[in-house]
Formats: sequence, C-alpha cells, structure tokens
Amino acid sequence: MYQNHQILREHNLKATPQRLAIIELMQKHGHISIDNLYQYIKEKFHSLSLATLYKNINIMIGVDLVKEVKIPNNKSKYELTKKPHSHLLCTKCNEISDVFIDLKNIIKECEKNSHYKISETTLLLKGLCPKCN
Ligand SMILES: [Zn+2]
Ligand SMILES: [Zn+2]
Repeated sequence: MYQNHQILREHNLKATPQRLAIIELMQKHGHISIDNLYQYIKEKFHSLSLATLYKNINIMIGVDLVKEVKIPNNKSKYELTKKPHSHLLCTKCNEISDVFIDLKNIIKECEKNSHYKISETTLLLKGLCPKCN
C-alpha cells in the first residue's frame, strides 16, 4: 500500500484513493479494460463516474504510469507501465499476457530495409492460451 503511494508520488501525482485503487486493480489483473476497472472500482467508490475514471486513467497515461494496450477490433486494455514488452492474445478467452522478447534484430532489419528510424513497436501475437489449448 505504502509502495503505491510512492509510485504515484514518483510520477508527480497526488495519491488519491481512486488512483490507489486503479493501481491495485492493475497489479491484480495485469491487463484490464475500462469496463472491468469501472465495475470493480464502483464497489468501493459508489459515486465515481465513468468520465472521472477515464480522466484519471488519461492523467496516469500522461505521466507514463499506465499504458494503453490497443487490441484490433476490440476495446483497449490498460496496464501499469513495465519494461518494453509484446502481448499475446488468446482468441478464445480474450486473455492478454505479456511476452518479453528481444525485437532488436527485427527493428534493425526493418530500418535497413525501409530507411525508417523506428521509435515504437506494437506487437500482438494471437493464439490459444494454455488453458484453452
Ligand atoms: Zn484462452
Ligand atoms: Zn502488458
């Protein structure tokens, strides 16, 4: 709990109860949609509106504490910022998992072939998770 206060302070944000709850839920669930986040957070903060939740999430994204995980043809999920990683998506249960793979060589090859200077990569691999397979 104290640690989460610290995380917020390090990002120059006031440690409000809502923000602490958002961090806790992201720690617990890993990747979570706004709808699910809202559902859980409503249990604790009955008067919280979806608009306020969005506002808080956007503030946390703004200071790079939270990252949006865009999923094609689906709603985004949100996670706490970690070291750069890619994502696995289960096409059956829609679960999102992290995968830490080194994209250095792929980026190098892309830059060589395209003469682009790559600044960002988004890689989403789809398949069946161990539970569904
Ligand atoms: Zn699955
Ligand atoms: Zn992730």
